[in-house]
Order: sequence, then C-alpha cells, then structure tokens
Amino acid sequence: MRTLALLIAVTSGVLFAEEPHAPATKAKAKPPAHATASATHSPAPASDAPDMPSTALAELSAGNARFMAGKRTRTLDTGHDAAMRAALVAGQAPFAIIITCSDSRVPDALLFDQEAGRLFTIREAGNAPDLQGIASAEYAAEHLGSKLIVVMGHTSCGAVKAIHSANGKPLPGNLWALQAGMAGLLESTPQDPNEDTKAHLSRLEEANARRQAQALLDRSGLLSELAAAEKLWIVPALYNLASGKVQFFKPLAAVPALQAHH
Ligand SMILES: [Zn+2]
Repeated sequence: MRTLALLIAVTSGVLFAEEPHAPATKAKAKPPAHATASATHSPAPASDAPDMPSTALAELSAGNARFMAGKRTRTLDTGHDAAMRAALVAGQAPFAIIITCSDSRVPDALLFDQEAGRLFTIREAGNAPDLQGIASAEYAAEHLGSKLIVVMGHTSCGAVKAIHSANGKPLPGNLWALQAGMAGLLESTPQDPNEDTKAHLSRLEEANARRQAQALLDRSGLLSELAAAEKLWIVPALYNLASGKVQFFKPLAAVPALQAHH
C-alpha cells in the first residue's frame, strides 16, 4: 500500500526526500491551470480543490514553487476579497491541514500560495500540537474532508533551540508544556562527536517534524484509520527560512487498524 502511495506521489510530481538530510529535491510539479490564468481571475474557493492526498500534496508543492519564484497567483488577487468571503460563508472544505510553528516567519498561506478556505492551520510553537491541536486536525480530516496533513518544522526554530539549550532543565512560566510536547527529542537525536551546535540544531528541527507527525498517528486512532485507508496522508516537512523552500518527506506509513491490535 505504501509503495502504491509513493508511486502516486511521484507520478503526481512531488519528490520526497528519502532520508534525513538528503539533498533537497527539485520540485517538478506542473503549475496548476490557474497559475497561467489572468491575475484577475475570480477565486474558486472549493470547486478546484484537490480531492486526493497525492493531488493535495502536489498543489502545495506547486504553490510553494510559485512562492519561491516570486510568482504567487492565488494570494495576490486582492480585488476579489469580498467575493471570496461571500463564497465561503456557507461552509469550508480545506484540502490540507497545516501543523506548523507559531514563528512569524512561517506564513503558511503565503508560502503555499493558498487563499482563504484552502488550508486548515494549527500553529503552536515547535509545531508540537497538544491534544486540542490534534482534535482540531481530527475535526478537519473527519468533518471537513481534508486529504493531507503536513507537519512542518522550519530552520532557525526558537522552540527547538530553547529545548536544546534547556537540556532537560525547566523553562520558565508555562513553557514546561512545550518541553512536555517535545519530550524525547534530544534523546532521539544526540549530538555527534564531530558535529557543531548549528548542525545539531538542524538535525533536531527535522527530527522534531518527523516525531510530531508520528505522534499524530500514535495519539489519534481517528487519523490513523484514515491514513491506513489511504484517505489521508500525514507528511513531515521542513521550511527553509532563507530559500523559501518546503522540503517534503515521505508520507508516514499507517498500520491498518485490524492489524494494529495483533
Ligand atoms: Zn519555530
């Protein structure tokens, strides 16, 4: 099943990084039809939304390519804001759920070039959703029909740096909750003897995105069942603040519920 999923992904134009710290793959996704349309096109909030995990990921990849190239189309159309709002009053059908950091330098709608109604976003420091964040993702996947969850870390993440600096000692205020949400990260990814702190932090940022994505499967039976049925992909990712590129990793493999209890 996973092989099939990856074949679909590759044929959809999205190439995944194979292993931690693999070189960034070049996005080859074709621009969607609207990318070549006039800049004054009317927004179509739901009618052209991807309806499969693979096509949802391809659209995010294409949107990120537009963002990197300075050629956004969907988030430049300010002349139709009133029409866009009116079209969305009756309901929403966001095709993707984005779980990312609260960092102000990670504007998910812009960097994926998606207007209102397209992305269901959960942002918490360290892209480490608490139970309410996971419930929010369940709501979007189950009730709104989202096909994809991207758990996206980023370079120069202050939350990861804080966890690294604290090294297990309590942080002030309520930041203990952040430490709890990222518990086990340092142990999972120890510093190599010849590795400087900057390189270690980079590995921690990627490891955190992967671990938080896996935590969704581990903590949510609802999301696990959708993923096992290939109705939902959960994809770890890392956003590079400098280049603007989002590196997508492979969709997580979910064990079907019947086998999970053996
Ligand atoms: Zn961050």
